[in-house]
Amino acid sequence: MDRPAWAPESVDMQQASPARMYDALLGGSHNFEIDRKAAEMGKQLVPDLPRLALSNRAFLRRAVRFLVDSGIRQFLDIGSGIPTAGNVHEIAQRIDPEITVLYADIDPVAVAHAKAILHGNERAAAIEADLRKPAELLAKVRENGLIDFEQPVGVLLVAVLHLLSDADRPADMVAELHAAVAPGSYIAISHLTSELRPEDADRLGANAASQNRIGIHFRPLDTIAAMFDGWDLVEPGVVELPLWRPESERDRHEEPGRSLGLAGVGRKD
Ligand code: SAM
Repeated sequence: MDRPAWAPESVDMQQASPARMYDALLGGSHNFEIDRKAAEMGKQLVPDLPRLALSNRAFLRRAVRFLVDSGIRQFLDIGSGIPTAGNVHEIAQRIDPEITVLYADIDPVAVAHAKAILHGNERAAAIEADLRKPAELLAKVRENGLIDFEQPVGVLLVAVLHLLSDADRPADMVAELHAAVAPGSYIAISHLTSELRPEDADRLGANAASQNRIGIHFRPLDTIAAMFDGWDLVEPGVVELPLWRPESERDRHEEPGRSLGLAGVGRKD
């Protein structure tokens, strides 16, 4: 298979990636056959998987608008993914064009595509960085210069922490970010959960590991809620994705108890 122009040389086209599988689920075009197959297999196991991805994007949009309304003027979006409709800078800069957004992702395709679409936007940029190495990640963010750590920042960890294993200590990553940001900063987290549909969670997790060598870690509510230790959770706390401050009937499309994702937003005093 020919390497498309958007795929950097470092990318293994025979190995599915979470960023490209998610892009495939959302109907995007920056994915390979192996990613589409993996997304298809996920859909066969759990047919409402694409709706879950859309529900997660809808949470991201609501969380960004909430943070802008709460006074946040700079965003650090970690595990930002392959740019798709309703990117953080589009949502935030539509409300206030002065808002700055720094995207960070481990996936070279995600970063290359983000850089391409942000060309000419002086208030948004993308860097390649690994959340599992928070000191290095923060050094790269400081070096980039777009985020001022003396001012409150909206940190987004949307659908990324479940890609970290327990051995990666995801709660510690969140704590390191808490230590780095100024009072008045916020964190928004969404996370796949084993709480509501344990059998579907097991099936998807086992399939991703065996077929695609990708670790997806569905966690219970308590573990996800504990990631907010030290942050003041804003209402309504950690809840199913569609129940986090829904703005319309469309946001509430899922039956209660049917989501595979939980979400919450916390503030640093
Ligand atoms: N945040 C976007 C959203 O919710 O629409 C994209 C979520 S996508 C499911 C997860 C993203 O996390 C992927 O782009 C993947 O490359 C990225 N990711 C996975 N592990 C990471 C790590 N250790 N550091 C930074 N990004 C990571």
